[in-house]
Amino acid sequence: MPMPASSTRFSPAMLVFAAGICGFLALIGWTEYSNWATQVGRVETNLENTAEAIAQHTDDVMEMSRLPLASLIAEINDEQNDPAQLPKSVTALIKRLTKASPTLDTLSYIDASGAIVATSARRVPPGLNFSDRDYFQMHRSSNMPLPVVGKPVKSRLSMDWIIPVTQRVVLADGRFGGVVVSTIRVNHFVNFFNNFNVVNDGSMLIVRGDGVILARSPIEESLLGTNISQHEMFTRYLKQGATGAYHYISPVDETRRIGGFYQSARSGIVVLAAASEIDILMRWAQAARARWSYAAILMAACLLGALYQRRQIRLRRAAESRGAAREAEFRLLAESSGDVISRFDEDGIREYVSPSSALILGIAPDKLIGRSVFADMEEDTQVIIRDAIDRLRTSAAAEKYVVRHIKPNGETVWLETALSKLPAADPKAGTQVVAITRDVTVHKHMEDELGTLANTDELTKLANRRYFNLRFEDAVARAKRSLAPVSLLMIDADRFKLFNDTYGHAAGDECLKKIAGVLRDCVRQPEDLAARYGGEELAVILGSGASEAAGIAERIRREVERLGLPHAANEPAGVVTVSIGVATLLADGTAGASTQALFAQADGALYRAKSSGRNRIVTTADDIAAE
Ligand code: GH3
Ligand code: MG
Ligand code: MG
Repeated sequence: MPMPASSTRFSPAMLVFAAGICGFLALIGWTEYSNWATQVGRVETNLENTAEAIAQHTDDVMEMSRLPLASLIAEINDEQNDPAQLPKSVTALIKRLTKASPTLDTLSYIDASGAIVATSARRVPPGLNFSDRDYFQMHRSSNMPLPVVGKPVKSRLSMDWIIPVTQRVVLADGRFGGVVVSTIRVNHFVNFFNNFNVVNDGSMLIVRGDGVILARSPIEESLLGTNISQHEMFTRYLKQGATGAYHYISPVDETRRIGGFYQSARSGIVVLAAASEIDILMRWAQAARARWSYAAILMAACLLGALYQRRQIRLRRAAESRGAAREAEFRLLAESSGDVISRFDEDGIREYVSPSSALILGIAPDKLIGRSVFADMEEDTQVIIRDAIDRLRTSAAAEKYVVRHIKPNGETVWLETALSKLPAADPKAGTQVVAITRDVTVHKHMEDELGTLANTDELTKLANRRYFNLRFEDAVARAKRSLAPVSLLMIDADRFKLFNDTYGHAAGDECLKKIAGVLRDCVRQPEDLAARYGGEELAVILGSGASEAAGIAERIRREVERLGLPHAANEPAGVVTVSIGVATLLADGTAGASTQALFAQADGALYRAKSSGRNRIVTTADDIAAE
């Protein structure tokens, strides 16, 4: 039966699962976002610290460059009286001062004409003049007495980019005496910044308090000396505090950067240390990758689990609907049937019983459902049914048996039941058995009657010779199997021809009936059998040993004699008598191992009973004694 598609496509469980997955993803997203935010915060703090360290270092380096200038000016003034000696003594002082200050690049004295008088630089091209330099013109025109940090320029001595720190030389008489210059290589700061190991694509700016760029890493010559006082760092962030961080797109290389800045309170110098945002993101992603892989594996496992679960649910539903359809069909058939149709499980517990049980078993279905098929059952019947179920479970496709059933009202009926295995709808469930039961009492009675007729001698109502032969074979086979004894009595009426001759054939028949009656009285064990073997010869099978058989034989002989049926020709008794031959198949199987042998022995014993005078019994034991 097809299922409505909607019931399996979006089950509540699936929606809950989808919501769970979304929640899980949201949680991961939120965790990762806050992780990223923390990472950015950490980077910002690091950059601020880096900027502060560089600013302090820059201040120190500037200070170191400033310090020698004053002593150089003092020496120049001292040597004014001896112009010939001045270059020499100033050069000597410059040498001493540069030795003491390792961060110093060069230290020089330029006279009022712009010509170099003394310098620590190794090579001085001839005719060099510095009067065109900004700082020179500034000092010549201004009487500013303090050291000044100038714009970066390309050194005419070393060809490197340098930052000049300059001071006006004022002579004793107040005249302009030139400029003393100490220089710092821009590269010094670039190298210093590189030591901080800021991620790839990091950058650094050292800016004078008025916005003039003193150094940049990586070096960008076009930027050195330019003024960025209109940049948002000055117009916005520095107004909020001396240190901080902000995100920007670099106008130089258009890289997105996070910058940490710091402004020195001592010198006003501002340092901006920046790291590439994408580079930080890559580093963070690398660290997060392991977490993401675990999450992805977990998600995949959940998804697979859910898909598997969904498939199982579908299969189960399909099986259930198939099962329900089959159950409905089964009930329809069962309830319209005149037979009792029932179904029970492996343990024999009834799961279903059709309504006709009320008529056929005399018990309503609800009293049978849930109960064992073996309940209230005779032991013999139980064995028959158990054997049938066992055969069915192991190999047979169907089984049939007929058992007796006593209805609650005491009526005995015979029931024929056909068992068949029900193909399992669910392979995990045990074998189910369907039983179809019908009342065969009438049939059974007819069958029994026919069976009896076929096995009975019409005249004497004893077993006939055919039935005797069957039972004799069985008895001998059983005796041999179980090593139990079996005895055979061969009985023959004495001088019966003469009886017929004297009293008529009909009287002979009546006489035979009476002898049969004696046999019936004397042979009473269920496993024993009295039969008419033929004519006036009778036979008895006994499940007894030799002496007991001899006892029964003697009783038969005596009881026939005691009937006192007149038989004048039967001298000396004068009444009807019988002669009996007795043979026993011993428990150890020594006295003949076949029906023929046992029969021959009994017949032989009968012959001897006749020949030794009649109206007697002869046993094989007597034979042995006689020999
Ligand atoms: P004995 O056995 O003592 O040696 O003598 P007997 O006369 O019985 O011997 P035999 O076996 O020769 O004769 C059997 C007789 O039994 C022959 C027959 O007339 C008679 N007889 C056999 N069957 C029947 C029967 O069904 N009805 C009647 N009335 N007589 C029968
Ligand atoms: Mg005979
Ligand atoms: Mg006879």
